[in-house]
Amino acid sequence: MKKQTLIGLTREELESFAQELGEPAFRGRQLYTWLYQKRAADFDEMSDLPAAWRLKLAEVSEIGTLGLSRPAKETRDGSQKFLFELSDGLRVESVYLPDSPGETVCISSQVGCALGCHFCATAKMGLFRSLTAGEIVLQVLEVEGHCQTQLTNVVFMGMGEPLHNYENVVAAVRLLADPQGIGLSARRITVSTVGLVPGIERWMKDDPPAKLAISLHATTDERRAELMPVNKAYPLDMLFKTLRRFAHVTKDPVTFEYIMIEDFNDREEDVDNLARWLKNIPAKMNLIRLHPTGSGLKPSSDEAIDRFMGWLTEAGIRSTLRQSRGIEDEAACGMLFTQEPFKPTKVRAWERA
Ligand code: SAH
Repeated sequence: MKKQTLIGLTREELESFAQELGEPAFRGRQLYTWLYQKRAADFDEMSDLPAAWRLKLAEVSEIGTLGLSRPAKETRDGSQKFLFELSDGLRVESVYLPDSPGETVCISSQVGCALGCHFCATAKMGLFRSLTAGEIVLQVLEVEGHCQTQLTNVVFMGMGEPLHNYENVVAAVRLLADPQGIGLSARRITVSTVGLVPGIERWMKDDPPAKLAISLHATTDERRAELMPVNKAYPLDMLFKTLRRFAHVTKDPVTFEYIMIEDFNDREEDVDNLARWLKNIPAKMNLIRLHPTGSGLKPSSDEAIDRFMGWLTEAGIRSTLRQSRGIEDEAACGMLFTQEPFKPTKVRAWERA
């Protein structure tokens, strides 16, 4: 019989699990504390659980781990790229980014991605499958263990589209932010999305303990659709209508990611367009240098980025330039790629949403 993996289960699920094994529900809560708060690596450590039950647990369940496909690769700027192997042999990447700010880990939500963004290496794989909540949480726990650090920030900016794996991502976020469990601050968990409108609507209702960031990358439908096929399903007026309500509900500025591409989206008219879209939406623009992935697009020069930031300031739009790290080692945003595509993703689930 296949053993039950425990990491990924909620407190309630662990209570039921304990009861199924003939123990009172509170044993499940003790287990929850050992797994998530004390980060036990072995049932033997769980000293307040009866010895007989610990044996039983080891028989029918496992805590959960991710295998390392190769030793972690440290890049010149101190970030570390992990290639994890899942139980079915598929692989995902996670990146540890010290001081950026805090101790940050960038994690994946899917193996590959179905969204097909033109500039992104992961898109070339197509979608293999979504990760379970446990596999998402395990990336954080494994990186923390390997790096011997206490992580403070988690960003869902690795492989995959988090809102295309909505339920498991939200379940993982809740586990990461539970003060009685892993205990990260909700303000330091960021989920980045291409802008799947139904997912954003759902997020607004559920209000999970994390921040949402929107990958914008262009200021007209025509140009955005060129970069991101998703724009055909959810064009800018639809997206911004939802974001206007989103900002109203969360009372927080909306964070946008914006890759700087030469002569494509770094022009003064882009700032004019942006200012129009952002009317009544408090916003923060997070500019990113385009990382090379063989897309044929060219990154904006430093001067062009400076000029663009100046125009944004004049238009009253806050912006920061994200430090690009791990580029030489293909550990930077949009450069994660773990397997040759085995088949193109023909049916795009997000188009049916
Ligand atoms: N699917 C989600 C999260 C994954 S990517 C999303 O699209 O938001 C995290 C960020 O890296 C996104 O803003 C994405 O657009 C950006 N990115 C992708 N490819 C990139 C590249 N070649 N250079 C710079 N940033 C890139």
